[in-house]
Amino acid sequence: MKYSIPEINIDLKSIKKNYTFINKFCGKTEVASSVKASSYGLGGQKKIIQSLISAGCKNFFVAQLSEGIILRRLFKNIHINILNGVLKNEEKIFIKYKLTPVINDYSQFIRWTGCLKNKKKERLIIHFDTGMCRLGFQEDDTIKLYKKINIIKKFNYVLIMSHLASSSNKNDKYNIIQLNRFKKIKKIFSGFKYSLSASGGIFLGKKYHFDMVRPGINLYGGCQHFNKKIKNVVSVRCPIIAINQLYKGETCGYNRTFRAKKNMHTATIPMGYADGFGLRLSNKGFVFYGNTKLKMLGRISMDLIIIDISKVKNKIKLGDFVELYNKKFTIDKFADLTGTIPYRVITCISDRFSKNYL
Ligand SMILES: *Cc1c(COP(=O)(O)O)cnc(C)c1O
Repeated sequence: MKYSIPEINIDLKSIKKNYTFINKFCGKTEVASSVKASSYGLGGQKKIIQSLISAGCKNFFVAQLSEGIILRRLFKNIHINILNGVLKNEEKIFIKYKLTPVINDYSQFIRWTGCLKNKKKERLIIHFDTGMCRLGFQEDDTIKLYKKINIIKKFNYVLIMSHLASSSNKNDKYNIIQLNRFKKIKKIFSGFKYSLSASGGIFLGKKYHFDMVRPGINLYGGCQHFNKKIKNVVSVRCPIIAINQLYKGETCGYNRTFRAKKNMHTATIPMGYADGFGLRLSNKGFVFYGNTKLKMLGRISMDLIIIDISKVKNKIKLGDFVELYNKKFTIDKFADLTGTIPYRVITCISDRFSKNYL
C-alpha cells in the first residue's frame, strides 16, 4: 500500500543531462562530482552516483571520511576524495578504503605522505586557500610545503586545488583576485593538474576550468541562473489529509496569526517545520494545485500546514496532491521565497518524505 505522505521526486535522467551538459561545456576539462551530504540531501547515493558514472564521471568529492566509507562499500572503481582532509589516526582507514584525502595543511601532508609506501601509485590532492579562510594551505605553510617538492614529485597524480568564495556572483572582482592567486600557486607548483571551480566558477569562463571542475548544485538542478540549460531535478508534492471550513472572523493555526475576512475553505497537508519548511512560510508561502496557486494560512506547525482552497473548492478533494516546487516553480524560486539558498532547500529535506527516483 502507498501511504498518504509527502513525496520528493528525483529525476535521475536530468542529473545525467546536467552532468553531460557541463561535460560538453568544459571540453577537455574533467568533470568531477560533488556528492557530499548524500548528494545534497537527495539520498539514494547508489542510484544518483550510478547515473553520474554512466554519464562518464570517475571522480567524486564528499566532505567526511564516514561518507567516503559508505561510498566505497557501494562502488569499487571510482575515485573518492575527502574534502575535510585526513585527521590524526585516520590514515589507516583512508588506506583500507582506498580514499584520497584532500591535504589541507602541512601537518596533514607530512603525516599522509609519511605513511604511504608506494607513492608512485598514489593520488595526491593538495588544497590551497586563495581567499576563503576555511580549508587549505595558507601562505606560511605553502613556503614550508615547497621545500618538500621532491616528495610531491614522487606521486604519479597530483591535483592542486582551491575554491572560489563568490563565484555565484559573476561580477564580483574577488573571482579574478582568487584566479590570479591560484595562477601564482600554479607557477610555483608547476607540472601537475589543477582545479579551481565548482558550479559557479564553471560559468565564469574557460580560464576558470583548468584540468578539473567539481560541480555539485548544478547537477541537482539548483542555481539555474549560472546557465539556463541546467535542468530541474527535484520536485516535492504532498497529499491533502483534511478539508475544513473557516468562517468569517475565525482564526486558524497556532497563535491565531490568520483571521478570515470572509467565509473560506481550507485544506491541511502533512508537512511542517520538522520537514524543513520553516516558519518563514507562515502566511506567506504557497503551493500549486495544477496551475492554481494556493496560499498558506496561519503559522506553519511542526507536521502540518493549512492552505486556502477557496478558489478550487469544487474540484479539490481529500488525497489530491499539491506541489511545493517543481519544474516551473524551481528550488531556486522556493529558496527566494523562504529567504535561503537552493543548497539549503534540498539538504534539509525530511527523512519522513518518500523518495522516488525516476
Ligand atoms: C561543495 C564544494 C564543491 C561543489 O560546490 P557547488 O557550488 O555545489 O557546485 C566543490 N568544491 C568544494 C571544495 C566544495 O566544498
